[in-house]
Amino acid sequence: MSRTKLIAGNWKMNTNFSEAQILCSALKKTIRPSATVEVAVCPPFTHLSIVNTLLNGTQIMLGAQNIHQDKKGAFTGEVSAQMLKDTGVEYVIIGHSERREHFGETNTIVKEKALRCLELGMKPIVCVGEVLSERKSGNYLNIVEEQVREGLSREMDPKKLVVAYEPVWAIGTGETASPEQANEVHGHIRSILTEYFGSESAQEIRIIYGGSMKPSNADELLAQPEVDGGLIGGASLNAEDFCAIVTAGEKQ
Ligand code: PEP
Repeated sequence: MSRTKLIAGNWKMNTNFSEAQILCSALKKTIRPSATVEVAVCPPFTHLSIVNTLLNGTQIMLGAQNIHQDKKGAFTGEVSAQMLKDTGVEYVIIGHSERREHFGETNTIVKEKALRCLELGMKPIVCVGEVLSERKSGNYLNIVEEQVREGLSREMDPKKLVVAYEPVWAIGTGETASPEQANEVHGHIRSILTEYFGSESAQEIRIIYGGSMKPSNADELLAQPEVDGGLIGGASLNAEDFCAIVTAGEKQ
């Protein structure tokens, strides 16, 4: 089964307007339409509109870094699914480890957010991953399994779902999971997806890897049969590095 790879850049709380413009124009120059790799960028909320305009006419898709689980109401400072949809957003990162750690996002909240996103036809990128002590204890597969089981539900449309395996110990640390470590966990995630959605649909769901992916390790990570792309933090802020990772995806 060949799945279209997804390379998504998570800019986090970085870039001012002019940096975002420079980054977009560099991506626009280099990234060409591809049949094998989809590319998305997830800027901060305040830049979504301008980035959407700047990337108009390219095949680079717009993503958001978060969403609120309620449709509307008295949630000061929050952004709803409809607001994102109206701004041109196609992908939404949900349950990133930084949101789980700093903003108390639980698996239940992750599920509600993913459902809200799917309701409007946007694609959730649901993040899961173990912390270092869980990796060291050998319990990492159980931890990830729980996040997948509780963060997803069988009523979700598998065609729109993306899962990102992001070992927390590899995010922003420069330390990367080995290709074999990533492939093992991705395979385990796919076995749960198979149980939830059936084998045919589970084979179509992209499971992407995140955690210090960079040009020097992208080739071997993306060559793994279960690794269907990357969620890129730090390296997505450098156009040359991000484009090199996209090229690595195209080579597989
Ligand atoms: C991330 O934040 O999703 C991420 C993978 O970050 P980095 O690439 O910087 O490790």
